[in-house]
Amino acid sequence: MRFRSSVAIDLGTVNTLVWVAGRGIVLEEPTAIAIDTAVGKVAAVGAAADALADKEPQDIEVIHPLRDGVIADLDATAALLHAFLRRTRRPGLRPNALVCVPSGATPVERRSIVAALSVRRPRYNVRLIDEPVAAAAGAGFDLTGGAGGFVVDIGGGTTEVAAVAGWRVVRAQSLRKAGNAMDDAIVQAVRAELGLIISQRAARQLKMTLGVTGGAEGWAEAVGLDAAQRTPRTEYVPGGLVATALEPIVATIAASVHEMLSDIPAGLAEDVVRGKIRLAGGGALLPGLAGRIETAAGIGAVLVEDPLRCVVRGAAEMLERKKDKTRPGPGLRQLTSRRPGLSPALQAAALQAAAIQAAGGRCWPAGGRPAASRRGRRPRAARPAGPGDRRSARRRT
Ligand code: ADP
Ligand code: MG
Repeated sequence: MRFRSSVAIDLGTVNTLVWVAGRGIVLEEPTAIAIDTAVGKVAAVGAAADALADKEPQDIEVIHPLRDGVIADLDATAALLHAFLRRTRRPGLRPNALVCVPSGATPVERRSIVAALSVRRPRYNVRLIDEPVAAAAGAGFDLTGGAGGFVVDIGGGTTEVAAVAGWRVVRAQSLRKAGNAMDDAIVQAVRAELGLIISQRAARQLKMTLGVTGGAEGWAEAVGLDAAQRTPRTEYVPGGLVATALEPIVATIAASVHEMLSDIPAGLAEDVVRGKIRLAGGGALLPGLAGRIETAAGIGAVLVEDPLRCVVRGAAEMLERKKDKTRPGPGLRQLTSRRPGLSPALQAAALQAAAIQAAGGRCWPAGGRPAASRRGRRPRAARPAGPGDRRSARRRT
């Protein structure tokens, strides 16, 4: 792999970040794409597409193609990445990509990321890394020489709770309870308690302002539609209402931290206590969350610097270490879908099969997607059969 032309990609459920070697973070955009269904073409990507969500302009379909941290709509993801990366590419160099994946992603889910970056030209050489490892590196843990740490990355679709050491996951749990679930809970509570229908965007604003502490004022304003009259109305939303709505999600995250901590090997305890629990991802900014996690864990919990960029920063550091032969690095594993011994034609067929499997057995041609495959429904086949809403990964270093 030639790292001169490398990119690190944090393909999140809500936000995508791209780091380019020698240039730093060059792209931070919502993971959203808008399709003009009348002509079957991409109308907008990133922030411009996300701004159209919930507003339902005619002939425009806004797709958030990731669900729970993994690809739910392969073609939309491929189109989105293609558009994002076109802005960052230097002509003439063969591109390599290091992409972060949730620790509990299945082999099919992992391959679908490779497929998304391979089904269109330019095709990327793809390597995958476990998101908690990148988050730990971005959170400032030096994982060389077997050193470890404990990190909680609260994104939009998933919360990754993990102990890592020596650039590998030691224990990890991936919860499907994160920022989006918080927004949904607030939408439902505001409708049930105040008779007001608010958008996800308005719910997100309430979440950021009030959190589980009630915010500085103890209330915040929200504009929505009156559930009975269907006319616009402004309402003062009390902090207690939002805190109550968020409580089950915050409690699930805190319980998972406690459970993972009680499962770490004794040899890692000192590193974890010394390094404290480091909170990353946009959800870590929720007012009052760090305190709740600290109480549940019984050890310190700190918010990392710039939590929304933590994962891509960590992935970038891993690429830099790989390039610099004098520094010990993570020894990136080739987790691509390439299978040794397969001819290029069979490689392409294998990728296509992974793509179809990841799309739940469906694959639509460009411009011809059916309306039913709207906002990222996660493929049934790709869902692990684990208990409740958790995906666990237990690995020993
Ligand atoms: P992902 O990696 O899944 O794309 P991010 O790490 O980018 O997710 O975080 C996005 C999530 O963080 C969203 O659900 C967003 O609402 C939430 N978020 C961002 N800022 C705040 C904040 N100040 N308070 C609470 N949640 C926040
Ligand atoms: Mg993330």
